[in-house]
Amino acid sequence: MRAARFHEHGGPEVLRLDELPQPDPGPGEARVAVRAAGLNHLDLWVRRGLPIDTTLPHTGGSDIAGVVDAVGAEVSDEWVGERVVVNPSLWCGRCAGCGRGEHPLCRKYRIIGEHTDGGFAEYAVVPAEKLYRIPEPLSFEEASVLPVSYGTAWRALIGRAAVRAGESVLVLGASGGTAIAALQLAAHAGAEVFAVTSGPENVRRVRELGARRVYDRLEEDWSRGVYEDTAREGVDVVVENVGEATWEGSLRALARGGRLVTYGATTGHRAGLDLRLLFWKQLRIIGSTMAARREFEEMLRVMGSGAVRPVIDRVLPLEEVAAAHERLESGAAFGSIVLTP
Ligand code: ZN
Repeated sequence: MRAARFHEHGGPEVLRLDELPQPDPGPGEARVAVRAAGLNHLDLWVRRGLPIDTTLPHTGGSDIAGVVDAVGAEVSDEWVGERVVVNPSLWCGRCAGCGRGEHPLCRKYRIIGEHTDGGFAEYAVVPAEKLYRIPEPLSFEEASVLPVSYGTAWRALIGRAAVRAGESVLVLGASGGTAIAALQLAAHAGAEVFAVTSGPENVRRVRELGARRVYDRLEEDWSRGVYEDTAREGVDVVVENVGEATWEGSLRALARGGRLVTYGATTGHRAGLDLRLLFWKQLRIIGSTMAARREFEEMLRVMGSGAVRPVIDRVLPLEEVAAAHERLESGAAFGSIVLTP
């Protein structure tokens, strides 16, 4: 089979297509004939070699959708031929974090495609317990962008920040797959959505996705804009994944008692904090990462209902994996990039 791998860490140029033997599923595992695999910022970090232990050569790809074509011992044959999407979270089920029912707090937490070989290949072998049937209205391409982007957005918004209908939510960096997912899910939850993006075309598209007010960060001071557009109150929740470049503005844009939830730091991870803002406005800063099992299932149910359609930037053949990495890295994409083997 063909697999897009890197044998050393570095830029997109380290990616290449290798010919490998078809992998066989072991006990408890299933082999998925990959039809589509979503590309995420996580894949860029793993390729660069920060800060994860990955054995080399490595096949990336945490977002896998396809058809089960073989199962190992202890797995029901009924899976064979099913359209599936894979929950990429691997937890031990036995540690203190797992014991709290919060699988992302697992001390041995790992992610398919990051700590193990992933879906940028013709076949991927995964634990059968991570398989979910793809809801009928979704294509393989649409299903393949759900686990990381929509799962992460679901946990941040619903699981961690507990956004309720009628609250105001500000989404930063609204062109990336996960930020767009957060924006759509916030609107679906009945929140009033504010968003920051760049360029008139992105502003138009973000507005179409349900944001009431969209700020072009190249044209205006969005933090002040939020303050003024909320009658000098600020927003209830800020969804952050930009990091250093926006952190201060994000805190300023929060209302008294507001919550900031963060799951990424694409512009840098050293952010300052004016402690007076924190205590005087009685803010909460909340960290978040990949979805817990229950959150993943809730997300899949909502996405499967067709109420929210995943936003895909473009679908590229596996041969163009390096170009796909370059496009995501450049910030030019609007929504998720998908690779098809
Ligand atoms: Zn655990």
